[in-house]
Amino acid sequence: MVKTVFSIDLPVLENMCILKNRLQPLDLTGNERRVSIVTGIHGDELEGQYICYEIIRRIKENMEHLCGIIDIYPSLNPLGMDSLTRGIPAFDLDLNRCFPGSKEGDMAENAAAKIVEDILGSHLCIDLHSSNIFLREIPQVRMIEENASMLLPYAKLLNLDFVWVHPSATVQNATLAHALNTNGVPTIAVEMGTGMRITKQFGDQITEGIFCLLKEIGMWSGDVILPKTPIVSSEGHRDVTMVHAEASGIFLPAVKHWNSIKKGDVIGDIVNTLTGEIEQHIIAPCDGMVFTLREYPVVNSGSLIVRILGGDL
Ligand SMILES: [Zn+2]
Repeated sequence: MVKTVFSIDLPVLENMCILKNRLQPLDLTGNERRVSIVTGIHGDELEGQYICYEIIRRIKENMEHLCGIIDIYPSLNPLGMDSLTRGIPAFDLDLNRCFPGSKEGDMAENAAAKIVEDILGSHLCIDLHSSNIFLREIPQVRMIEENASMLLPYAKLLNLDFVWVHPSATVQNATLAHALNTNGVPTIAVEMGTGMRITKQFGDQITEGIFCLLKEIGMWSGDVILPKTPIVSSEGHRDVTMVHAEASGIFLPAVKHWNSIKKGDVIGDIVNTLTGEIEQHIIAPCDGMVFTLREYPVVNSGSLIVRILGGDL
């Protein structure tokens, strides 16, 4: 059943509506748990679109296995998605820096407050993000250290490759995940793929994981896969090593995404397409796994080229 979470009139007879689809068992007992699955806070991140579609499709085909309430919010920033914009167009605002919002605030703050109010009371929230257009990411969850004991047990069920536990919260304070995590709704922010694209393989992987999680918390009685055991950055005694461009030009990768590399391997070249010269021959500084790889070929000095799970702590 489709419900309106937030609606506001815009100039020129237009309207902005944030919608959700509620899926629930045919016979309700009144004691069902609720899980919220949200995506599209950033209008240029589309990987979650396929996951929303696929989850709804699978549940509708197997309603007899649904034992709880699933709220799916496919587009929290519909104006951004309609206009290929990361933030809210015209306001130049990142919606994921507006939480918890305020009902007395402007449109973005108002929308943020309504989104939080709607999700509060959920047993769990899954917030699906993509990377940007510049970097390709393996399916991963990022969380701050202080939330790890609450979130890691859930994250480990999501069929992920990697959980990155950050020591600091410097940029997280105004995010939806932070607003919910500090108000009693454990919220897992999943990141995968590339901006403005859908990577079906990653979408299928996370969809399977979401059903594993739903089964574990008693909301799905159908068959599920055995989820992958993710590498957890804080458990493996391995660091994250970043490699940045030291020249400007066109980056030609020599490594594959989510492959292991050895110290001294060639990561790729930054080439000059006017002179035909190699400006920088990029060498791996340590052994490890390439979990972030530069996707967009144009680079400047300082651009992130790879993140490697590996290196000394
Ligand atoms: Zn995002």
